[in-house]
Amino acid sequence: MAARGRVLLIEDEESIAEMLRGFFERAGFRLMHAATGEDGLARLAERPPKVVLLDLNLPGIDGVEVCRRIRASGSDVPVIMLTARDSEVDKVVGLELGADDYVTKPFSPRELLARVQAVLRRSEEQPVEPRSIDIRGFEIDAGRRQIVTPSGATIRPTAKEFDLLWYLAENRGLVLSRAQILSAVWGYDYFGETRTVDVHIRQLRKKLEGIPIETVWGVGYRMED
Ligand code: CA
Repeated sequence: MAARGRVLLIEDEESIAEMLRGFFERAGFRLMHAATGEDGLARLAERPPKVVLLDLNLPGIDGVEVCRRIRASGSDVPVIMLTARDSEVDKVVGLELGADDYVTKPFSPRELLARVQAVLRRSEEQPVEPRSIDIRGFEIDAGRRQIVTPSGATIRPTAKEFDLLWYLAENRGLVLSRAQILSAVWGYDYFGETRTVDVHIRQLRKKLEGIPIETVWGVGYRMED
């Protein structure tokens, strides 16, 4: 189960990784562990996590440098610094590294999880530009997450149905494979079957009669323009 996404822990103390792994996994996160800053940056580039937990004192390049490189790469992933002493907090804050929060060791897994949830809430609350896409008279409104049909009815699909519809609409004219759709709409951590996509498409066709979602046999789907 990793429905809530991946958390990347960059920490050289194995005992901390062990303490956090089970706790975060029970809370629905997948904990990825890197023991050095270099390894952490490589992991981050490979598969961006939802949150980075970054130890300040690392062998090789330290947490300050890791954080700097994360921001220099253009990533705005939330970073929570793990510091060993209160005196280090001043250093972290003073450097204006672009870290989102910090905790001082020793901390409880529960406390850290609460911080993670708080930074995720903040990053998810950022206002999204309301946009809408018109597909043959269906007005798909991303701000209100609803669709006004050509006959003027307002339809509010489920969250996943809307995400799927929006993804197809944004990529209208392109053939999208089921695997592509799954990873874009359900996330890379979703281990479900590609049949999930078919079920949701069926629901959308039922709710939005006439929506031009074309089945591309053996591949996936395409929203006609
Ligand atoms: Ca350390």
